[in-house]
Amino acid sequence: MAPLTRIGLAGLAVMGQNLALNIAEKGFHISVYNRTTLKVDETVERAKQEGDLPLYGFHDPESFVKSIQKPRVIIMLVKAGAPVDQTIKTLSIYMEKGDCIIDGGNEWYENTERREKAMAELGLLYLGMGVSGGEDGARHGPSLMPGGSFKAYKHIEDILLTVAAQVPDSGPCVTYIGKGGSGNFVKMVHNGIEYGDMQLIAEACDVLKSVGKLTNEELCQVFSEWNKGELLSFLIEITADIFGIKDDKGEGYLVDKVLDKTGMKGTVPGIWKGGCIIRAVFLDRIKKAYDRNPNLPNLLVDPEFAIEIIERQSAWRRVVSTAINSGISTPGMTSSLAYFDTYRRSKLPANLVQAQRDYFGAHTYERDDMDGSFHTEWFKIA
Ligand code: NAP
Repeated sequence: MAPLTRIGLAGLAVMGQNLALNIAEKGFHISVYNRTTLKVDETVERAKQEGDLPLYGFHDPESFVKSIQKPRVIIMLVKAGAPVDQTIKTLSIYMEKGDCIIDGGNEWYENTERREKAMAELGLLYLGMGVSGGEDGARHGPSLMPGGSFKAYKHIEDILLTVAAQVPDSGPCVTYIGKGGSGNFVKMVHNGIEYGDMQLIAEACDVLKSVGKLTNEELCQVFSEWNKGELLSFLIEITADIFGIKDDKGEGYLVDKVLDKTGMKGTVPGIWKGGCIIRAVFLDRIKKAYDRNPNLPNLLVDPEFAIEIIERQSAWRRVVSTAINSGISTPGMTSSLAYFDTYRRSKLPANLVQAQRDYFGAHTYERDDMDGSFHTEWFKIA
């Protein structure tokens, strides 16, 4: 009989397959399972080719679960939503009290909280763990955001610390986030930042290309240059690469042939310094701002950031107005400027909205010169 493995992983698409190989490469014996068995065989084959890694494939859930040492720990990396419930149902019937399931997908945090409660009734532990870094991160070192049962986290802390991205001076990009669905919640915030970053970069390219008439070669040079300074980051680096790639199926550059339709699937900064998509030197400065003042209400009021924003706001306004005047849509830059302008105003026109609500619906309003809730019969005075 084969020796029991240390951990299991179910769901062998891009993320699961690569994370399983990463775990095996670090010396942890791992069992793997996938609903469609072809992916199990593919993963086993890759493990052989990538250095005879200690990875064992199973075609049925029972032998998969029983191949793992107790208390069993199984990471799931399947599509968020119903597939997660189905996978839990398939695996949990063979699991025993004290065993643990970890959902590594981009799950809605409230689903994780619901499942953690349901699992607790069966005596099983549950974690919702954000995993960032895409295919390459999963294979060579992701950023990990585990939340939920602390006891479950302790069962696999050694594995997570070893397989996560390692950043000199900062260490492994993993930390226990907190209770319930907090790991998934933090991953959701991370993804919001990731897509915000990508949108801003895309808008900057659009302005440079459409208004500044820069060619793809020039954009490649500009982004390579930007990646040497304070903007040094994964997303700036890959943008430079993208503008340098020619279309292998026709004339010109590949990026110009890509359909302009954003896809998606499913769905705070030291652990994002490595492994993940938003890794950037800039994160160091954000971390320092929160080290200076852990209760900072907004980065905009950190003294260092405030000075820089003030110094750069005229350039920001110029770019946004140039884009508007040229008919180039820059929703990320424009709405962030609107946010900044809203934040810096001492008084907003929401006072008028409150007055209108009180006028037509007696919703009451508060005053800025005294406590309490007030209602005025505006129509009688008018
Ligand atoms: P995916 O395309 O999101 O999901 C494919 C996996 O889900 C396959 O193993 C598939 O099994 C399984 N699956 C689908 N429906 C199922 C069902 N009803 N019952 C059981 N299994 C089912 O894979 P992925 O891109 O590797 O992502 C996995 C998770 O990580 C997702 O939550 C994703 O959002 C998250 N994530 C992805 C990335 C990324 O860069 N791709 C990055 C971070 C996080 P079959 O092979 O049998 O169909």
